[in-house]
Amino acid sequence: MSELLMVEQRQGLDDDAFWVREGDRRIPGQDGNRRLVELRAGLVRHSRVRPVLADAPDAEVERTLAVLHEAEYLRALAELSGAEPVVMPDFAPPGLEPDIPVNANLIAAAREGIRTSITAAERLLGGAQFTYAVCRPPGHHAGPAFHAGYCYLNNAGAAVRRLSEGGLKPIGIIDLDLHYPNGTSALVERMGPVAALHSLHAAPVTNLPPGTRLPRLAGERAVAFLESPDEDTYLAEVAHSIHDLAEIARALVVSLGYDTVAGDPHGGWSFRPEIFAEIGRLLARSGLPICVIQEGGYALDELADCSHAFATGLLGGDER
Ligand SMILES: [Zn+2]
Repeated sequence: MSELLMVEQRQGLDDDAFWVREGDRRIPGQDGNRRLVELRAGLVRHSRVRPVLADAPDAEVERTLAVLHEAEYLRALAELSGAEPVVMPDFAPPGLEPDIPVNANLIAAAREGIRTSITAAERLLGGAQFTYAVCRPPGHHAGPAFHAGYCYLNNAGAAVRRLSEGGLKPIGIIDLDLHYPNGTSALVERMGPVAALHSLHAAPVTNLPPGTRLPRLAGERAVAFLESPDEDTYLAEVAHSIHDLAEIARALVVSLGYDTVAGDPHGGWSFRPEIFAEIGRLLARSGLPICVIQEGGYALDELADCSHAFATGLLGGDER
């Protein structure tokens, strides 16, 4: 019977998100460590979820970041000191206004997210069938030299890099967060044939310059929904992507967001947590090794039910 290795992030202090700008509104930050607590609580309700601590060494974190992100960007983040949040317009996504501030503690948390993702990738290379990086802040809006939408460093990109360096390639990336992964897409563009990206997301996409056509890349699949799809329609598209990626990939990296559930403060869709059980089943059925990277999901009272449903689908039922 398979098990799921739940990789736990080393927790920092005073590193909750400050705010995020959505259009003209500045919204209080919804990303904090309580998310990790809820996500873990849901996962360990399943008897075949085994917790392991993120243990990738600092040198590995540095090395991976250096291939993912531009040196000037990493240097600017490393120079941050103190608790005061600052806005860095030079490192907004190309063609867009900055939408989040940053401080040293948030970057420390983002680096721990990278450590967590690298550990999840390494355990997959070591023979695990399923790993789940319970990480924050999310990463899929962070590109080579930009941050946005709570994301500073790209966790999914780090996992893809580590897997491919370990010889497990090509990688299929499936992004199931509500939002389009503009950062991951920009990184995949530089990776060449190592990875293919599929994304299911809400339209209109606001994190690309107006007029940008999707898919952006050869091999990218972008499925947009103008409003909350019914669950069967959405699941059919998930199955379609998993099927296509399984034809070409030797492992899947799943950018998993729970901001598609009803009541998410950044959402607007109406999925039930139970939909993640079916998503877990579809992923398991692919037969491929699977590395899950946590992206969004901010409805704190729903997160444990979402992660628990996902584990139940992936592993089959077996309550603790
Ligand atoms: Zn999201």
